[in-house]
Amino acid sequence: MSVAKIFANASAIVTCAGPQRGRRGMEMSDAGVLKNAGVAIESGRIAAVGDVKDLRPRFAGATEIDCRGGVLTPGLVDSHTHAVFGKSRAEEQELRASGVGYMEIAKRGGGIHSSVRDLRALSEADLIKLALPRLRRLLSYGATTVEIKSGYGLDAESELKTLAVIGRLSKLLPIRIVATWLGGHEIPLEQRDRPGGRAECIAKLKADTAAVAKQGIARFADVFCEPGVFSIEESREILAAAKEAGLAIKLHADELEPSGGAELAVELGAASADHLAAISAEGIRALAGSNTVATLLPGTMLFLGKNKNAPAREMIDAGAAIALATDYNPGTSPTPNLPLMMTLGISVLHMTAAEAMIAVTANGAAALNLATETGQIAPGFSADLSLFDIADWRELAYWYGDRRCVGSWCRGEPCHPMEAGLS
Ligand SMILES: [Zn+2]
Repeated sequence: MSVAKIFANASAIVTCAGPQRGRRGMEMSDAGVLKNAGVAIESGRIAAVGDVKDLRPRFAGATEIDCRGGVLTPGLVDSHTHAVFGKSRAEEQELRASGVGYMEIAKRGGGIHSSVRDLRALSEADLIKLALPRLRRLLSYGATTVEIKSGYGLDAESELKTLAVIGRLSKLLPIRIVATWLGGHEIPLEQRDRPGGRAECIAKLKADTAAVAKQGIARFADVFCEPGVFSIEESREILAAAKEAGLAIKLHADELEPSGGAELAVELGAASADHLAAISAEGIRALAGSNTVATLLPGTMLFLGKNKNAPAREMIDAGAAIALATDYNPGTSPTPNLPLMMTLGISVLHMTAAEAMIAVTANGAAALNLATETGQIAPGFSADLSLFDIADWRELAYWYGDRRCVGSWCRGEPCHPMEAGLS
């Protein structure tokens, strides 16, 4: 039996405790902040939350971890990343800023197809070598659960290679990694410009979902549903096949145009609809009346220099469940900093501090169908904890861009021991 640990001397514990599902609307306004409390963990689970004086006799012999007046939160959940890729696309940033459009960048060899060429040429070992330090950086900001999508392979072989890499990363890193198959990220060039290529692509993707499900190497299937990429009908077809094969569903929806992506996600019973900067009033109504989590990615809009943002306030007021994630990827959001998304959630999307906190914990977990496992500090949950060197819990979003995480634990094991002595 593993020795218990007691986390003591935190200035606050943000428990995010509550129903074991996505928090909708007003439910997001309570982050469950406790003062003068400690947390006991045992055998990888949270055993008790309460006064440290009461925990000590109950867990005699427990190792005590001194939180030194910092703030303890549930391990953060980054529920939308594309963290396995080849090289950076730094050169595109200034091209875009100087007014060069997406099509012109693609013509010069940039854009998503450059990441596809790049990933196809790399071995599993190469990709792991690139992804490991990037993920370590990501978890150094406090995430203990990270979703990673494939989607830069676009052919069956390269997509399976990416999923194999994600599987190996989950064994190499002490965090919880959730794999998503995103074979439908874009129509590959070899099929895009050929008569019949599009139909062939859809048919292949439908067949691939069965292979992915059979191998058990992804929990979710996702499609980039957007006019010009995959239409509503095509997305429905691919995701219905994925669902039939036994995969849970996610959807890149309504990022640029209100095409009915949010409504499709609800229709399919998706765990989440992601992006939503262009969601329609109908889409908001659909999400608000469902358990599908709206995952917002404000870092993407910031990095692309766009002023259009998802109407988070309207969505929460209507009763939707909101998550925030980094969208960590080489083209449109190369940041590993999840607390920065909380900053944008408050300052740009007009969320409250409690809503931003729930969005990167309980609701991030719900977007991954993990709401009964992680995302809150409550007895029975996985011992996933992050400790921040801040005096007031709201400072997590306030010191923006700063890295305040000084330790994190996943399933009770230290995964980001930045400071000596915290283990
Ligand atoms: Zn994405």
